[in-house]
Amino acid sequence: MNHLKFDLHIHSEYSSDSFVPIKKILKFSKKIGLSGIAITDHNTIKGGLEAKKLNKSDLVIIIGSEITLNNGGELLGLFLQREIKQGSFFEVYDQIKEQDGLIVLPHPFRHLKKNIDKLTKNELSHVKIIEGINAFNSPSENNQAIQYAEKNSLTIIGGSDSHHYSTIGSAYTVFSDIDDLKKQILEGKISYGGKSINKKERTRIFINRNLKSKNYKQIIRYNYEKILERLR
Ligand SMILES: [Zn+2]
Repeated sequence: MNHLKFDLHIHSEYSSDSFVPIKKILKFSKKIGLSGIAITDHNTIKGGLEAKKLNKSDLVIIIGSEITLNNGGELLGLFLQREIKQGSFFEVYDQIKEQDGLIVLPHPFRHLKKNIDKLTKNELSHVKIIEGINAFNSPSENNQAIQYAEKNSLTIIGGSDSHHYSTIGSAYTVFSDIDDLKKQILEGKISYGGKSINKKERTRIFINRNLKSKNYKQIIRYNYEKILERLR
């Protein structure tokens, strides 16, 4: 059996909180031996379309998007063809289904505002795929996601949630065949791997993200807390 690694959660400069050019993502993904990637920019598929256009290698490109719901929750759409309009869970869900895409609940247990808590029981019952390993989650947040998925017989995928090229591939999904990727996910014939990135890396990326989205307050607050910590 072949082991084809795909990073199914990557942000490019088409996201409001990432600076990474598509060319850099393509080059780095190929360099570290990934077989494919999904570009999942916030609320747009432009990055994925651009990656498809620019890609000259055998790297498989999946067009995706991480869509923000009305209530602040997030859904990951994979294998998209058209832009998804933001809205409620079911408005987004229906649009992804219409274009034969896959619906994934990303980082369900990440820190205070848990994505899973944004969904009602009924909405949650429509989710069949969970991001069980996300490189920006802590190991315990990932463990909770994996346990939840196993308990509810859901399919688990992995993705890095990279907002910087250096973390691409740190979490991934493993396919056994390059054909019918969607089918392999739907049938649960995939596995996953990777790990949480370290704190230093997370801090650097946190600052980058907030710079890009011009959220300077967050950076100042963060540095202020760091200084206080040192004075203690
Ligand atoms: Zn993301």
